[in-house]
Amino acid sequence: MRIVLLGAPGSGKGTQAKLLVEKYKIPQMSTGDLLRAEVSAGTDLGKRAKAAMDAGQLVTDDVVLGMIQARLAKPDAKSGFILDGFPRNIPQAQSLDAMLARLGQPLQLALLVDVDTDVLLKRLTGRRTCGSCGAIYNIYFSSPKTANKCDKCGAALQHRSDDNEQTVANRLKVYQQQTAPLVNYYKAQGKLRTVRGVGAVSSIFKNVTDIIESQIRPLADVMGKIESAAARQAAKAKAAAVAKAAAAKAAAKVAKAPPAKAKAVAPAAKPKPVAKKAMPKKAAVKKATPKSKPKKAPKPAAKAKKVK
Ligand SMILES: [Zn+2]
Repeated sequence: MRIVLLGAPGSGKGTQAKLLVEKYKIPQMSTGDLLRAEVSAGTDLGKRAKAAMDAGQLVTDDVVLGMIQARLAKPDAKSGFILDGFPRNIPQAQSLDAMLARLGQPLQLALLVDVDTDVLLKRLTGRRTCGSCGAIYNIYFSSPKTANKCDKCGAALQHRSDDNEQTVANRLKVYQQQTAPLVNYYKAQGKLRTVRGVGAVSSIFKNVTDIIESQIRPLADVMGKIESAAARQAAKAKAAAVAKAAAAKAAAKVAKAPPAKAKAVAPAAKPKPVAKKAMPKKAAVKKATPKSKPKKAPKPAAKAKKVK
Protein backbone atom coordinates (compact mmCIF):
# COMPACT_ATOMS: atom_id res chain seq x y z
CA MET A 1 0.00 0.00 0.00
CA ARG A 2 1.27 3.42 -0.95
CA ILE A 3 0.04 6.15 1.37
CA VAL A 4 0.66 9.84 1.97
CA LEU A 5 -0.27 11.13 5.41
CA LEU A 6 -1.55 14.67 5.67
CA GLY A 7 -2.21 16.65 8.80
CA ALA A 8 -1.29 19.81 10.64
CA PRO A 9 1.47 19.99 13.24
CA GLY A 10 -0.06 18.50 16.38
CA SER A 11 -2.57 16.35 14.45
CA GLY A 12 -0.90 13.18 15.68
CA LYS A 13 -0.25 11.81 12.18
CA GLY A 14 3.29 10.81 13.17
CA THR A 15 1.87 8.55 15.88
CA GLN A 16 -0.53 6.99 13.37
CA ALA A 17 2.34 6.50 10.92
CA LYS A 18 4.30 4.51 13.51
CA LEU A 19 1.28 2.31 14.24
CA LEU A 20 0.82 1.69 10.50
CA VAL A 21 4.47 0.66 10.18
CA GLU A 22 3.98 -1.90 12.95
CA LYS A 23 0.72 -3.29 11.61
CA TYR A 24 1.45 -3.49 7.88
CA LYS A 25 5.25 -3.94 7.97
CA ILE A 26 5.90 -1.19 5.47
CA PRO A 27 8.47 1.57 6.00
CA GLN A 28 7.63 5.12 6.99
CA MET A 29 9.51 7.58 4.86
CA SER A 30 10.03 10.90 6.52
CA THR A 31 12.25 13.31 4.66
CA GLY A 32 14.17 14.18 7.84
CA ASP A 33 15.15 10.54 8.39
CA LEU A 34 16.03 10.09 4.72
CA LEU A 35 18.20 13.20 4.77
CA ARG A 36 20.11 12.08 7.86
CA ALA A 37 20.62 8.59 6.41
CA GLU A 38 21.89 9.86 3.04
CA VAL A 39 24.19 12.43 4.64
CA SER A 40 25.71 9.92 7.05
CA ALA A 41 26.10 7.33 4.26
CA GLY A 42 27.94 9.96 2.19
CA THR A 43 26.01 9.27 -1.01
CA ASP A 44 25.94 11.77 -3.88
CA LEU A 45 22.48 12.87 -2.81
CA GLY A 46 23.68 13.14 0.77
CA LYS A 47 26.60 15.33 -0.29
CA ARG A 48 24.30 17.61 -2.29
CA ALA A 49 21.91 17.84 0.65
CA LYS A 50 24.73 18.61 3.08
CA ALA A 51 26.17 21.29 0.80
CA ALA A 52 22.77 23.00 0.68
CA MET A 53 22.28 22.78 4.45
CA ASP A 54 25.82 24.01 5.17
CA ALA A 55 25.12 27.00 2.93
CA GLY A 56 21.96 27.68 4.89
CA GLN A 57 19.72 26.77 1.96
CA LEU A 58 16.77 24.45 1.69
CA VAL A 59 17.42 21.03 0.21
CA THR A 60 15.92 21.12 -3.28
CA ASP A 61 12.92 19.05 -4.24
CA ASP A 62 14.86 17.00 -6.78
CA VAL A 63 17.33 15.92 -4.08
CA VAL A 64 14.45 14.94 -1.78
CA LEU A 65 12.71 13.08 -4.60
CA GLY A 66 15.96 11.32 -5.45
CA MET A 67 16.24 10.17 -1.84
CA ILE A 68 12.66 8.92 -1.85
CA GLN A 69 13.28 7.05 -5.10
CA ALA A 70 16.44 5.47 -3.69
CA ARG A 71 14.52 4.47 -0.57
CA LEU A 72 11.72 2.93 -2.69
CA ALA A 73 14.27 0.68 -4.38
CA LYS A 74 15.11 -1.05 -1.09
CA PRO A 75 13.56 -4.49 -0.50
CA ASP A 76 11.46 -3.52 2.52
CA ALA A 77 9.56 -0.96 0.43
CA LYS A 78 8.44 -3.60 -2.04
CA SER A 79 4.95 -3.88 -0.57
CA GLY A 80 4.51 -0.18 0.01
CA PHE A 81 5.38 2.89 2.06
CA ILE A 82 3.97 5.63 4.20
CA LEU A 83 5.10 9.14 3.33
CA ASP A 84 4.97 11.53 6.26
CA GLY A 85 6.05 15.16 5.92
CA PHE A 86 6.33 15.08 2.14
CA PRO A 87 4.88 16.51 -0.04
CA ARG A 88 4.37 19.83 1.71
CA ASN A 89 3.05 21.81 -1.25
CA ILE A 90 1.42 21.35 -4.66
CA PRO A 91 4.63 21.46 -6.77
CA GLN A 92 6.16 18.74 -4.57
CA ALA A 93 2.99 16.66 -4.89
CA GLN A 94 3.12 16.99 -8.67
CA SER A 95 6.80 15.98 -8.82
CA LEU A 96 6.09 13.04 -6.53
CA ASP A 97 3.17 11.88 -8.70
CA ALA A 98 5.35 12.12 -11.81
CA MET A 99 8.13 10.07 -10.22
CA LEU A 100 5.77 7.40 -8.85
CA ALA A 101 4.06 7.19 -12.26
CA ARG A 102 7.45 6.53 -13.90
CA LEU A 103 8.04 3.76 -11.36
CA GLY A 104 4.57 2.33 -11.94
CA GLN A 105 3.79 2.77 -8.25
CA PRO A 106 1.15 5.52 -7.99
CA LEU A 107 -0.19 6.63 -4.64
CA GLN A 108 -3.27 4.75 -3.54
CA LEU A 109 -4.40 6.89 -0.66
CA ALA A 110 -3.91 10.34 0.85
CA LEU A 111 -5.03 10.16 4.43
CA LEU A 112 -5.82 13.40 6.23
CA VAL A 113 -5.74 13.36 10.02
CA ASP A 114 -8.13 16.22 10.65
CA VAL A 115 -8.09 18.21 13.88
CA ASP A 116 -9.75 21.58 14.56
CA THR A 117 -7.39 24.53 14.86
CA ASP A 118 -8.36 25.40 18.45
CA VAL A 119 -7.52 21.84 19.53
CA LEU A 120 -4.21 22.00 17.65
CA LEU A 121 -3.38 25.23 19.44
CA LYS A 122 -4.08 23.67 22.84
CA ARG A 123 -2.13 20.54 22.00
CA LEU A 124 0.92 22.49 20.88
CA THR A 125 0.92 25.38 23.34
CA GLY A 126 -0.20 23.29 26.34
CA ARG A 127 2.72 20.90 26.10
CA ARG A 128 5.01 20.69 29.13
CA THR A 129 8.05 18.47 29.39
CA CYS A 130 9.81 17.23 32.52
CA GLY A 131 13.34 18.59 32.51
CA SER A 132 14.58 15.59 34.46
CA CYS A 133 12.92 12.40 33.16
CA GLY A 134 11.43 13.66 29.87
CA ALA A 135 7.80 12.82 30.71
CA ILE A 136 5.33 14.81 28.58
CA TYR A 137 2.19 16.53 29.87
CA ASN A 138 -0.41 18.89 28.49
CA ILE A 139 -1.96 21.48 30.74
CA TYR A 140 -5.28 21.16 28.83
CA PHE A 141 -5.54 17.41 28.26
CA SER A 142 -3.20 15.55 30.59
CA SER A 143 -2.13 17.92 33.32
CA PRO A 144 0.15 16.83 36.16
CA LYS A 145 -1.42 16.31 39.60
CA THR A 146 0.51 19.29 40.95
CA ALA A 147 0.88 22.28 38.66
CA ASN A 148 4.29 22.42 36.94
CA LYS A 149 5.61 19.36 38.80
CA CYS A 150 6.36 15.98 37.23
CA ASP A 151 4.13 13.18 38.61
CA LYS A 152 6.94 10.66 38.20
CA CYS A 153 9.99 12.41 39.60
CA GLY A 154 8.75 15.72 41.06
CA ALA A 155 11.06 17.82 38.88
CA ALA A 156 9.91 21.11 37.38
CA LEU A 157 8.11 21.04 34.03
CA GLN A 158 9.38 23.08 31.15
CA HIS A 159 7.64 24.95 28.38
CA ARG A 160 9.73 24.69 25.21
CA SER A 161 10.27 27.97 23.38
CA ASP A 162 8.97 26.57 20.08
CA ASP A 163 5.72 25.68 21.87
CA ASN A 164 4.89 29.34 22.58
CA GLU A 165 1.79 30.77 21.01
CA GLN A 166 3.48 32.96 18.45
CA THR A 167 5.68 30.16 17.07
CA VAL A 168 2.81 27.67 17.05
CA ALA A 169 0.49 30.13 15.31
CA ASN A 170 3.17 30.67 12.65
CA ARG A 171 3.62 26.94 12.09
CA LEU A 172 -0.12 26.47 11.69
CA LYS A 173 -0.30 29.43 9.31
CA VAL A 174 2.43 27.94 7.10
CA TYR A 175 0.56 24.66 7.11
CA GLN A 176 -2.71 26.35 6.11
CA GLN A 177 -1.04 28.21 3.27
CA GLN A 178 1.16 25.46 1.81
CA THR A 179 0.02 22.02 2.85
CA ALA A 180 -3.75 22.39 3.29
CA PRO A 181 -4.20 22.93 -0.49
CA LEU A 182 -2.94 19.35 -0.93
CA VAL A 183 -6.25 18.20 0.50
CA ASN A 184 -8.01 19.52 -2.58
CA TYR A 185 -5.25 18.23 -4.85
CA TYR A 186 -5.76 14.65 -3.67
CA LYS A 187 -9.53 15.08 -3.42
CA ALA A 188 -9.56 15.90 -7.15
CA GLN A 189 -7.67 12.63 -7.77
CA GLY A 190 -10.27 10.72 -5.74
CA LYS A 191 -7.53 9.59 -3.35
CA LEU A 192 -8.35 11.65 -0.27
CA ARG A 193 -9.86 10.07 2.83
CA THR A 194 -10.27 11.89 6.14
CA VAL A 195 -10.11 10.61 9.67
CA ARG A 196 -10.90 12.72 12.73
CA GLY A 197 -7.77 13.03 14.82
CA VAL A 198 -9.45 13.43 18.19
CA GLY A 199 -10.09 10.91 20.95
CA ALA A 200 -8.03 7.91 21.96
CA VAL A 201 -5.03 7.07 19.76
CA SER A 202 -6.31 3.49 19.45
CA SER A 203 -9.76 4.51 18.23
CA ILE A 204 -8.26 6.93 15.69
CA PHE A 205 -6.03 4.09 14.49
CA LYS A 206 -9.07 1.81 14.19
CA ASN A 207 -10.67 4.37 11.87
CA VAL A 208 -7.42 4.64 9.90
CA THR A 209 -7.16 0.88 9.36
CA ASP A 210 -10.87 0.66 8.48
CA ILE A 211 -10.26 3.17 5.70
CA ILE A 212 -7.19 1.28 4.50
CA GLU A 213 -8.96 -2.09 4.57
CA SER A 214 -11.92 -0.73 2.63
CA GLN A 215 -10.01 1.45 0.16
CA ILE A 216 -6.77 -0.34 -0.52
CA ARG A 217 -7.01 -3.96 0.52
CA PRO A 218 -9.88 -4.97 -1.81
CA LEU A 219 -8.03 -3.43 -4.73
CA ALA A 220 -4.79 -5.16 -3.75
CA ASP A 221 -6.63 -8.46 -3.35
CA VAL A 222 -8.27 -8.16 -6.76
CA MET A 223 -4.92 -7.31 -8.33
CA GLY A 224 -3.35 -10.27 -6.56
CA LYS A 225 -6.05 -12.63 -7.83
CA ILE A 226 -5.71 -11.35 -11.39
CA GLU A 227 -1.94 -11.78 -11.19
CA SER A 228 -2.09 -15.31 -9.76
CA ALA A 229 -4.77 -16.34 -12.29
CA ALA A 230 -2.54 -15.03 -15.06
CA ALA A 231 0.42 -16.90 -13.58
CA ARG A 232 -1.59 -20.14 -13.37
CA GLN A 233 -2.72 -19.73 -16.97
CA ALA A 234 0.83 -19.08 -18.12
CA ALA A 235 2.04 -22.17 -16.23
CA LYS A 236 -0.74 -24.26 -17.78
CA ALA A 237 0.09 -23.02 -21.26
CA LYS A 238 3.78 -23.74 -20.68
CA ALA A 239 3.05 -27.25 -19.43
CA ALA A 240 0.82 -27.89 -22.43
CA ALA A 241 3.53 -26.63 -24.79
CA VAL A 242 6.14 -28.86 -23.12
CA ALA A 243 3.85 -31.86 -23.33
CA LYS A 244 3.10 -31.12 -26.97
CA ALA A 245 6.79 -30.76 -27.79
CA ALA A 246 7.57 -34.00 -25.97
CA ALA A 247 4.74 -35.78 -27.79
CA ALA A 248 6.00 -34.48 -31.11
CA LYS A 249 9.54 -35.63 -30.29
CA ALA A 250 8.26 -39.00 -29.21
CA ALA A 251 6.23 -39.33 -32.38
CA ALA A 252 9.24 -38.40 -34.46
CA LYS A 253 11.42 -40.99 -32.71
CA VAL A 254 8.78 -43.65 -33.02
CA ALA A 255 8.72 -42.88 -36.71
CA LYS A 256 12.50 -43.19 -36.87
CA ALA A 257 12.47 -46.37 -34.80
CA PRO A 258 11.79 -48.91 -37.57
CA PRO A 259 14.99 -48.13 -39.49
CA ALA A 260 16.87 -48.41 -36.20
CA LYS A 261 15.33 -51.80 -35.64
CA ALA A 262 16.31 -52.85 -39.14
CA LYS A 263 19.92 -51.81 -38.58
CA ALA A 264 19.85 -53.58 -35.27
CA VAL A 265 19.67 -56.86 -37.06
CA ALA A 266 23.38 -56.77 -37.83
CA PRO A 267 25.20 -55.95 -34.49
CA ALA A 268 23.58 -57.42 -31.44
CA ALA A 269 24.66 -54.59 -29.13
CA LYS A 270 22.93 -51.63 -30.80
CA PRO A 271 19.24 -52.34 -30.19
CA LYS A 272 19.67 -51.91 -26.43
CA PRO A 273 20.35 -48.12 -26.50
CA VAL A 274 17.29 -47.68 -28.71
CA ALA A 275 15.19 -49.45 -26.13
CA LYS A 276 16.69 -47.34 -23.30
CA LYS A 277 15.94 -44.12 -25.12
CA ALA A 278 12.37 -45.21 -25.66
CA MET A 279 11.75 -45.80 -21.96
CA PRO A 280 12.03 -42.22 -20.63
CA LYS A 281 9.83 -41.06 -23.45
CA LYS A 282 7.20 -43.48 -22.36
CA ALA A 283 7.39 -42.15 -18.83
CA ALA A 284 7.25 -38.51 -19.83
CA VAL A 285 4.37 -38.73 -22.27
CA LYS A 286 2.07 -41.42 -20.95
CA LYS A 287 -0.76 -41.08 -23.42
CA ALA A 288 1.22 -40.02 -26.47
CA THR A 289 3.17 -43.27 -26.69
CA PRO A 290 1.08 -46.41 -26.41
CA LYS A 291 2.68 -48.96 -24.12
CA SER A 292 2.70 -51.57 -26.84
CA LYS A 293 5.16 -49.72 -29.09
CA PRO A 294 8.19 -49.50 -26.76
CA LYS A 295 7.54 -53.08 -25.71
CA LYS A 296 8.07 -54.16 -29.31
CA ALA A 297 11.53 -52.63 -29.28
CA PRO A 298 13.30 -55.41 -27.35
CA LYS A 299 11.87 -58.05 -29.67
CA PRO A 300 14.06 -57.27 -32.67
CA ALA A 301 17.01 -57.36 -30.31
CA ALA A 302 15.98 -60.79 -29.16
CA LYS A 303 15.52 -61.87 -32.76
CA ALA A 304 18.88 -60.37 -33.63
CA LYS A 305 20.55 -62.44 -30.94
CA LYS A 306 18.85 -65.49 -32.31
CA VAL A 307 19.97 -64.62 -35.82
CA LYS A 308 23.53 -64.34 -34.70
ZN1 LIG B 1 9.96 13.79 35.58
